[in-house]
Amino acid sequence: MDDCIFCKIVNEEIPTKFEWNDNEVVAFDDINPIAPVHIVIIPKRHIESLKEVKKEDVELLGKIQKIASELAGKKGIKDAFRVLTASGKGAGQTVFHLHYHLIGGWKDKAPEMEAGKDEQESE
Ligand code: AMP
Ligand code: ZN
Repeated sequence: MDDCIFCKIVNEEIPTKFEWNDNEVVAFDDINPIAPVHIVIIPKRHIESLKEVKKEDVELLGKIQKIASELAGKKGIKDAFRVLTASGKGAGQTVFHLHYHLIGGWKDKAPEMEAGKDEQESE
């Protein structure tokens, strides 16, 4: 995809230090980290989001989760990490090339995941 920032990273049009780079997957530090460790893991192939995933992509998705676990080990956060993906604008997806956020490295424990809870309760 010509106008996709993550495809540009894959094609090395945007110089990026890769935390992982194989024939199918790359990973790199998030430009705007929300945790002490925040790595973005993406398939090289342009898939918009989980919504567009096909049966033949299942192995690739499993592989990405294994890579997340390996990177967590490499970064010294293997005992406490999260892997997150947003699918769709309404879920907060801002880059429409499937990606997983590997986050961790909190001092004590991870922050609660309660965003949006109050909104629903007040409805
Ligand atoms: P999301 O909001 O879930 O779609 O995640 C997109 C993520 O990509 C955000 O956390 C951004 O900070 C990150 N991001 C956008 N552009 C770049 C870039 N050039 N290099 C690294 N991370 C980026
Ligand atoms: Zn792309």
